[in-house]
Amino acid sequence: MFVSRITTVQAIVLRASPWREKDRLLVLLTKERGKIFALAQGAQVPQNRLTPATQTGTLATFWLARAREFDRVTDYRIEQVLTRIRHDIFALTAFGIASELIELSVPLEAADDELFKEVLWFVKRLEEGVSPIKWLVAVQIRLLWRLGWMPHLLSCSLCGVELDKEQIAFAPSVGGAICERCQMSRMPADAQFFPSASLQAIYSLWQQPRLIETLHLRPNLWRQTLTLLRNHWHYHIEAESRAWRVWQQIMSAHTPSPSTRRRQI
Ligand SMILES: [Zn+2]
Repeated sequence: MFVSRITTVQAIVLRASPWREKDRLLVLLTKERGKIFALAQGAQVPQNRLTPATQTGTLATFWLARAREFDRVTDYRIEQVLTRIRHDIFALTAFGIASELIELSVPLEAADDELFKEVLWFVKRLEEGVSPIKWLVAVQIRLLWRLGWMPHLLSCSLCGVELDKEQIAFAPSVGGAICERCQMSRMPADAQFFPSASLQAIYSLWQQPRLIETLHLRPNLWRQTLTLLRNHWHYHIEAESRAWRVWQQIMSAHTPSPSTRRRQI
């Protein structure tokens, strides 16, 4: 008798994309097996029984059958469907960036319980309504730290001295911030200056991700934190997230023109 090998996984659907004519290919972050791909046959057909669970941003338990190319979804139990990302473009794009970074950086089939728990925690905070920009900063710095790519933010990457200037040079190629002395002997080609308040904010969110609820910074300084993190990721994964481009487009569409900005000040 043939017995198919079924496994159950607790998962977050990071991405669900059309596959062939009727199927969906899922990128899952799971508690039991880390990042995996799974095929949901027929899930593009609206009446298909797999359709409800096989959408980006669903938290569910999946029953998977081992198959040659990708595991196949045979059954599921939905734990939670994220509704905010269906109507809030900022939340959706922030989720998309985090998902893409996980997809690009986390190895396949490498169970990491702590990573799963933390991503689940972040996903639930996003659903509860935290600011997508703060959420995106916090989730990225925690991921970078988990991957061993934590940048030096408040001290010099080269000599270790504490940094106290208002503008700080940051170069991913040397591991992060660089003090003035080290800049004189060796200024890396990829160095860029950022306000120290932005670096402080990233550091605080790394130490205490819960501060996404309360930490305040001017919008421009938050934007700088994202640029810094984006540069750092780019250096490590050598790829550009597609969702980043979408984020930039919606940010520029929502940024007030110079005249309205003056009025606000
Ligand atoms: Zn130094």
